Amino acid sequence: MLVVKFGGTSVGKPERMKKIAELVLSMPGKKIVVLSALSGTTNALVRIGDHLLAQQHTGAQNEIAELEKHYLQFSKELYSSEAYQAIGQEIVSRYFSLFRLLAAGKFDDRSYRELLAQGELVSTEFFYHHLQERKISSRLLPALHFMTIDENHEPELEKISERLKPILESVNVDILVTQGYICRNQNNEIDNLKRGGSDYTASLIGAAIRAEEIQIWTDIDGMHNNDPRIVKKTMPIAELTFDEASELAYFGAKILHPSTIVPAQKYGVPVRLKNTMDEKAPGTIISDKGSKHQFKAIAAKDGIIAINIKSSRMLLAYGFLRKVFEVFEKHKTSIDMISTSEVAVSVTIDDSTRLTEIVAELGKLGTIEVDKNQTIICIVGNALAEKEAVLQEVFSALGAIKIRMVSFGGSHNNISILVDTTQKDKALNLLNEGLFNLK
Ligand code: ASP
Ligand code: MG
Repeated sequence: MLVVKFGGTSVGKPERMKKIAELVLSMPGKKIVVLSALSGTTNALVRIGDHLLAQQHTGAQNEIAELEKHYLQFSKELYSSEAYQAIGQEIVSRYFSLFRLLAAGKFDDRSYRELLAQGELVSTEFFYHHLQERKISSRLLPALHFMTIDENHEPELEKISERLKPILESVNVDILVTQGYICRNQNNEIDNLKRGGSDYTASLIGAAIRAEEIQIWTDIDGMHNNDPRIVKKTMPIAELTFDEASELAYFGAKILHPSTIVPAQKYGVPVRLKNTMDEKAPGTIISDKGSKHQFKAIAAKDGIIAINIKSSRMLLAYGFLRKVFEVFEKHKTSIDMISTSEVAVSVTIDDSTRLTEIVAELGKLGTIEVDKNQTIICIVGNALAEKEAVLQEVFSALGAIKIRMVSFGGSHNNISILVDTTQKDKALNLLNEGLFNLK
C-alpha cells in the first residue's frame, strides 16, 4: 500500500485538484491519499480564530465571507454536471454554516481547534466528490476516527495502527482519501499536529500500516542541496538517509515538517518527495540506504546565540560542565552546539526567552560573553566523518570566512559551523562552489 500526501498548493486550484485525481489514478495498487487544506485556508482560519478570540466579530465575519466566495468559485470550477454543482454548493454551505455557528457561540480554545480542522475536512470532501463525479471508486477515511495524540501531544502510533487495521480490511476500493493535520487528543477533542502537520500524518499512517512507501507531493522537485533563496544554483538531492533528512529538516530545510522522518524511520518505510508540477522529475528518496562519504546538502539556521563561559576553575576540574548544563536545564533551554577548551566552553542556543536569567546564573561560574545574531551552517552527508580530508575540503571552500565555532564528530552525518549572520550568504555560496562545484 502507498501513502500519498498532497500539500495545499497541490490542491489549491480546481485544475490542480483534477490533475491530482489523474495522478492518483495512474498509481498502481491501493493507496491512502492524504490531503492538506486548500492553500491559504489554514492561514485564513487562523485569522478568523484570532479575531474571534479577541471578540472582533466584524473582522471574523468579513474573513468568513471572503473565504466563502473563494470556496463557492472553487466548487463551481471543480464540478461539471449540474448534480455535482449542487453537491459542491451544499458542501460549502454546510461548512460555512458551521463557521458562522462557531463564530456566534462562546469561542474558546476548543472551538478554535475545531475551526482549524475544517480546512482538511472540506478539501477531502471536495476531492472525494470529484472522484465520484468521474466514477472513480474511492472512500473517505475520517482521520478523526483513527489519528490520536496523547497528553504530551505525541501521536499514538500503536493505537493508530490498531484502529486502521480493521478499517482497511473492510474496504475493497483502491483509493482511500483522508485528512492530514487533524486528530483527536486524549480528551477526545478535535486537535491538530501543528502547522504543516499533514506531512506528519502521512508518515504516521505509512508507519502504522507499514506501507511500501510514503510519497510527499509538493511544488518543488525534492530536497535541494542548498537554500535557493541565497545561492543561485541548487540541485535536487536524489537520495538521503533518514538521519541526513532529519538533520536537514531541523536546520530549516522548509520542505518537510521536522517530525515527519521519525515514524517512517522507525519502521524503515521510505519517504519519497515528488513534484506535482513536474511528475517525471525523480525527486528525493529518503530511506535507510544511501551513498556514503559524499556531501549531500547545506542548510542554515539563523537566530542563534553563542554563550562563552571562561573560568580557570575549569582547569583540571571535573563536574564543571554538569554545572553549566544544569543552568540550561533549569531554564528549559536546549543547547545545539558545544565546543570546549581546557579553560572555556562555548554553547549555542536558539531560544532567547530566558537568556538574561541564564547569563546571570552562569556568571557565578566564570566570565560570560554573549554573541547574538549567529548562524549555524550545517553540512550534511552520510558517514561524512569517515570521508578523507573532509574538514580540509570544508575549510578551504570557506576561505577567509570567520568561523566562531565548529562541531564535528558528534554524528557521522554532519559538520556544523557557527558564523556571524552577516557572513551567512557568503559562506553558503562559497560552500556551494567548493563542495558541489555549483556557481
Ligand atoms: N493545513 C495545515 C497547515 O497549513 C496542515 C498542512 O498543510 O500540512 O498548516
Ligand atoms: Mg507543508
